[in-house]
Amino acid sequence: MSEKVLPFTKEKLEEIIEKYPTPFHIYDERAIKSYARKFLKAFSWIKGFKEYYAIKAAPNPYLMKILHGEGFGIDCSSLAELELAAKVGMKGEEIMFTSNDTPAEEFRKAAELGAIINLDDIAHIKYLEDNVGLPELVCFRYNPGPLKEGNTIIGRPEEAKYGFTKNQLFEGYRILKEKGVKRFGLHTMVASNELDPNYFVETAQILFELVAELSSKLGIRFEFVNLGGGIGIPYKPEQKPVDLDLMSQGIKGEYDKYIVANGLDPLKIFFESGRAITGPYGYLVSKVLHIKDTYKRYAGLDSCMSDLMRPALYGAYHHITVPGKENSATKMLYDVTGSLCENNDKFAINRILPKLEPGDIIVIHDAGAHGHSMGFNYNGKLRSAELLLRENGEVVQIRRAETLADYFATLDFKGIAQFKV
Ligand SMILES: *Cc1c(COP(=O)(O)O)cnc(C)c1O
Repeated sequence: MSEKVLPFTKEKLEEIIEKYPTPFHIYDERAIKSYARKFLKAFSWIKGFKEYYAIKAAPNPYLMKILHGEGFGIDCSSLAELELAAKVGMKGEEIMFTSNDTPAEEFRKAAELGAIINLDDIAHIKYLEDNVGLPELVCFRYNPGPLKEGNTIIGRPEEAKYGFTKNQLFEGYRILKEKGVKRFGLHTMVASNELDPNYFVETAQILFELVAELSSKLGIRFEFVNLGGGIGIPYKPEQKPVDLDLMSQGIKGEYDKYIVANGLDPLKIFFESGRAITGPYGYLVSKVLHIKDTYKRYAGLDSCMSDLMRPALYGAYHHITVPGKENSATKMLYDVTGSLCENNDKFAINRILPKLEPGDIIVIHDAGAHGHSMGFNYNGKLRSAELLLRENGEVVQIRRAETLADYFATLDFKGIAQFKV
């Protein structure tokens, strides 16, 4: 069971809403820090362990600064994300660049920042060499194909566009060695939102075994394996969070068996987890705008899927709390909708909730990763603000809401006035 409790009272929320109108995302600094510490502690047996926060989950520099303060690195996959890393003062090997279908300018930026470059394809060795030059440390992304079952978000590995085949890994590291690269890493990421700790133990086992095989066949020494992201979170109240200690102990067992036993230690272990780090500690706060009774009963909110796309995109469950009505005896069945002209713009379908009225505050849980960040402007929808609930109870705005001026900023209306038809 995961308890779906809120870090604020209804009164506190009302106070916040007076200053920052709904909808907005709000993150809980205390909870983010506490989880970050738990994560690092679980893996403290590994010298040089590092978690690179996958910044695409919530690309806000304030959140990154908090996590950096806890000792996290950053995992980037685009030019904008690399720029953001630079803007929060991150550089060198605290940046992991795990991209795919990558343009040269992004490799150039990653190299300029001294980031660890994680290549997605064997052809990128030459592409990187021709456009930027090979760095002294290179990592490859492995796609285990039929060796591993995927899950619904990423799909089956052999149908996933990412990574090298096993044969390509052998060929790729051989080429790197020949070209004088001295430092090596190995990465994989084959699942997303996975709640079974054994899944990660099995992934670690596959990578450790591969490191042993690659090291002995090619005579190279690996510095690290990167187990990627994909640690799931309990979106549903009946689900349990991943037991990090259990996962870590399982990984240690495989480490001893394949790495220590073969004299390949020290081998660092990295993660690039996004969802688990901030997901449960961010909330989308909205208000009921309209109640509608037709063939079904609808609660229309003042937000929409551009604030949180997961339910529409994956049919994902997000828990909903109605502050002040938690213990209400009257329950009703609702579809909770947004205002986009797309019928799948629903935060919840057939959800039993307390009887709602216009003006009720609605809190949507687990929106702290792949929430605000997936926002878009389709249908002229504007992205909401992001707020941070600080440890001392203070609330600060860490990103303002978009305005119509932002929306129209790429258009030239003077040009339109002169445009003859
Ligand atoms: C999205 C992504 C992550 C983070 O995944 P989570 O499910 O948020 O942990 C890590 N690495 C890569 C390469 C990704 O694309």
